[in-house]
Amino acid sequence: LFISLDGIDGAGKTTHLQAIQAWFEQQDLPFVMTREPGGTPLGESLRALLLDPATDISNETECLLMFAARQQHLQDVILPALAQGTHVISDRFTDATFAYQGGGRGLPWHQIEALETWVQAGLQPDLTLLLDVPLEVSMGRIEKSREKDRFEQEQADFFTRVRSAYQQRALAAPARYALIDAHRDKAVVSADVVAAVAQLFD
Ligand code: C5P
Ligand code: MG
Repeated sequence: LFISLDGIDGAGKTTHLQAIQAWFEQQDLPFVMTREPGGTPLGESLRALLLDPATDISNETECLLMFAARQQHLQDVILPALAQGTHVISDRFTDATFAYQGGGRGLPWHQIEALETWVQAGLQPDLTLLLDVPLEVSMGRIEKSREKDRFEQEQADFFTRVRSAYQQRALAAPARYALIDAHRDKAVVSADVVAAVAQLFD
């Protein structure tokens, strides 16, 4: 199965990915953990460019590079793993493009959908866990973090649009999403995340 975890910067993805990883290990299920943008040597190079605050890039190019990294990721990592029965857990996937490049940057939804159709040819995660937190919480966490990347330097209005695009995606296709209120105790959120994953294997 293919599982993705998404949410605005500062939502707590890193913490809860660890809980998912621990669950897969405990169940003795074969899996790979990967991330976007990234997951391949080319993807990681693109990631470094995309996150570098010094990179001067148009919104359109940003979106195309996200999908370029994604195509390589699908071809070299995700599809081969799924073909051999290895579960894939991805730290972000196409929902992030709809949220950041669509909601945040304002690129038209239909253009992102056209790229999604081309690159994914119908492949979607079986489950997308969406960590939802109020801006005050996520922005506070980003403020405390080390160096901010190119996206984390954006203002609250940008993240408001990103958050609302994520919520829209989840509400439009409730069967594929678990929308998780991540503004609660870490252990409680992790338990919800793991429960949503475990339910897939029932
Ligand atoms: O570690 P993290 O997942 O936060 O790093 C990826 C960064 O790339 C995030 O800051 C996110 O804002 C950005 N991103 C994006 N569009 C995507 C995927 C990630 O803007 N499609
Ligand atoms: Mg981040």
